[in-house]
Amino acid sequence: MRIVMKFGGASVKDGRSIRHCAKLVKKYADNEVVVVVSAMAGVTDSLTNAAKKCYAEQSTGFIKMFVAELAKKHYDAVRDAVDEPYRARVMEHIDRLIDELEKVLLGISYLGELTKRSEDYILSFGERLSAPIFSSALLSLGVESLAMTGGDAGIVTNSHFGRARPLKTSCELIRSRIEPLISIRHVIPVVTGFIGVTEDGNITTLGRGGSDLTATLIASAIDADEVWLWKEVDGVMTADPKIVPNAKLIPEISYQEAMELAHFGAKILHPRALEPLIRNRIPVRIKNTFNPDAPGTVIKDGCNSSMGVVKALSLIEKVAIVNVSGAGFDFAEIMAEVFRRFAEERVNVIMISQSSSELNLSMVIDRGDLGRAMRTLTNVDSWNGNVKVSKLDDVAVVSAVGAGMAGTPGVAGRIFSALGKAGINIIMISQSCSEYNISFAVSKEDGRKAVKILHDEFCLEDTVEEVLSCE
Ligand code: ASP
Ligand code: MG
Repeated sequence: MRIVMKFGGASVKDGRSIRHCAKLVKKYADNEVVVVVSAMAGVTDSLTNAAKKCYAEQSTGFIKMFVAELAKKHYDAVRDAVDEPYRARVMEHIDRLIDELEKVLLGISYLGELTKRSEDYILSFGERLSAPIFSSALLSLGVESLAMTGGDAGIVTNSHFGRARPLKTSCELIRSRIEPLISIRHVIPVVTGFIGVTEDGNITTLGRGGSDLTATLIASAIDADEVWLWKEVDGVMTADPKIVPNAKLIPEISYQEAMELAHFGAKILHPRALEPLIRNRIPVRIKNTFNPDAPGTVIKDGCNSSMGVVKALSLIEKVAIVNVSGAGFDFAEIMAEVFRRFAEERVNVIMISQSSSELNLSMVIDRGDLGRAMRTLTNVDSWNGNVKVSKLDDVAVVSAVGAGMAGTPGVAGRIFSALGKAGINIIMISQSCSEYNISFAVSKEDGRKAVKILHDEFCLEDTVEEVLSCE
């Protein structure tokens, strides 16, 4: 079998975990395996914060301390994950990377300038540090391995730093670089997740959580049989267990349902990660690193309505609504202008709803994009001051997902009457005609409560038979 295995940050949080993951890989080393690895847990966040701090103030003391801590974290991991004689080489590699990072941070701090491009460059260090350690752990276990960056592996992207998209040419390039390693040389490549490279050689990132996308891109290019995403949870749940303690594991879910869930905030995988797999119908298995024998969740083509109408619920809390209203306009023109500006400013639009009696366009966006969104919509000349733009910043979006909702009458009725009975006010609603999800916005403090109520209403904690009889 040809398998791409991706290990998330929590799975490689320290040296012992890395060693444990390397052993898991070894168990499957008779197959053709490609490993994709995230940065060690917390590292990407700490790099983002460091970049911002260096931009805001000139502090060489902070930089020294930050890189020393980061170096120590990785040295410690090497000590626990890697045996002699492989340690010295990986330590040297870490030293070189840490040196490079220190220089970049000093540059940012002296210039007081932090571009999206330099931010991506800084963020890339997380995975560039973790991959060589993982690869050396495999070598220590007697498994032939080679650490590679996303660029080495052939992932070429456009230059939308921070959320770069892979170019079509990547596919051929990935195949030509990876296939000989796994099928002729029997080496397990350990590729940095999350990062790619532009055609002119600048490092890019694929957006937070992007290692999933790295794995699926590689899988699609080499026509893998399966992608395994190793995480710190058993699989996809009916809701976030932190919100609904009796949430249950979903054994099988379709691509479409999983994409809806990911898009609407369930932290199961990067929202775009499944796109490369759909054409070749490559299934994804979500597995728990710390409970490897559990069956996990399989995401695949055509397993749509095996379980109830609503299969799972998700919640996004860090969102805001932008509302554009006015009368006497050509709606299409105004909408075109709004979305053109949002595209230019890279505002992430999560959900829209529009009423046609007069122009009233509501859009849910990431709260972090709100400043840019409002700025770009103020003073649009062609609107002559006749279009009003307002915002609501404390909202949450709840989404009920399930392919079984398509063509089933009464689901929306059940959702909204259950919420109505609980006194929850709905601010905005959206359902596309795929009918795979019904999503709505409520005030932020009602979000969690709404998820709990719907989990109960659709009996998602019950077994499949009980769910069906409850409908
Ligand atoms: N290290 C990156 C992040 O934390 C990418 C990933 O983990 O997938 O977002
Ligand atoms: Mg991560």
